[in-house]
Amino acid sequence: MSTATLHVGIIGGGIGGLAAAIAIERSGAKVTLLEAAKELGEIGAGIQMYPNISRFLIRWGVSDILGSQLVTHKYCNTWFGSELVAHSDPQWMAKATGFPWWVVRRDHLLSALKESAEKHGAEVIIATRIVEIDDSGKRVAVTSEDGRKFSFDFVVGADGLKSIIRNHIHPGVMPVAPSKSAAYIENGFFISIIRFRFT
Ligand SMILES: Cc1cc2nc3c(=O)[nH]c(=O)nc-3n(C[C@H](O)[C@H](O)[C@H](O)COP(=O)(O)OP(=O)(O)OC[C@H]3O[C@@H](n4cnc5c(N)ncnc54)[C@H](O)[C@@H]3O)c2cc1C
Repeated sequence: MSTATLHVGIIGGGIGGLAAAIAIERSGAKVTLLEAAKELGEIGAGIQMYPNISRFLIRWGVSDILGSQLVTHKYCNTWFGSELVAHSDPQWMAKATGFPWWVVRRDHLLSALKESAEKHGAEVIIATRIVEIDDSGKRVAVTSEDGRKFSFDFVVGADGLKSIIRNHIHPGVMPVAPSKSAAYIENGFFISIIRFRFT
């Protein structure tokens, strides 16, 4: 089957699902993305866009949509309590890789990824929580909690930590965090924190 005839369903419209929607549309397949939330736009702090990601934001036109919402910083220090455990220099990294290291607000990033996905031809349907999957036939059928049915040639599970797609394929399997080294709070205590210095 040629990719031009494939209809791909993506379950979940976070950073992963929206990025997959853009990449799959660019490969020539048709994408329908189903997101549980009533609106896209995760609230939260800024997110770092390292050169391995910024190159795709540039290629996909997402950086043009974001414009001045992409922020560059002078340096980034990672502290563990009062101990400085890492110091990174974005200018050095940009020179070494050929692509920038940006910081952006999550809601801005999600909105720009959605705009780009739709410009690429993806259909993004919100307020659609998938509760049932049937992959026993030639196509994959999914059903939303309000009873709507969708059928795809291929389904991508991008529905986060508590993924029902993962649970369908690997019942009971949960991801384990490889590290606690981030701006991360556990039991009310800061484990470590990353501080940026902006120009
Ligand atoms: C404190 C912190 C800092 C971080 N900083 C960075 C950083 O600087 N740079 C970086 O690259 N990463 C960072 N990360 C990691 C990054 O945020 C995550 O890897 C990323 O957001 C995961 O995206 P996702 O699309 O896989 O999942 P999610 O963002 O969880 O998206 C899943 C989506 O699926 C939807 N969904 C769930 N179930 C269903 C269903 N049944 N049907 C339909 N839709 C469904 C949800 O509503 C949600 O919108 C950080 C994470 C944390 C916690």
